[in-house]
Amino acid sequence: MLCAQCDESARGVCRFCGRGVCATHHAAMPFIITVFGNDPPRSIVVGGTLWCQVCRPQPEPIAMPELT
Ligand SMILES: [Zn+2]
Ligand SMILES: [Zn+2]
Repeated sequence: MLCAQCDESARGVCRFCGRGVCATHHAAMPFIITVFGNDPPRSIVVGGTLWCQVCRPQPEPIAMPELT
């Protein structure tokens, strides 16, 4: 697999969108595994997740009423 930005050999795959990322173009981003409970909701987050810097993970879950 190659980096999506520069065609170097990819070091890993973006956790969010699946693009290949090389050592130069990767970055760390917290990744929310799950959200549970309410008042207040709590989330389990993994820090340092591989991120391609191209896609834009949204900080909040987005409601998708069309899927229900
Ligand atoms: Zn690259
Ligand atoms: Zn990505």
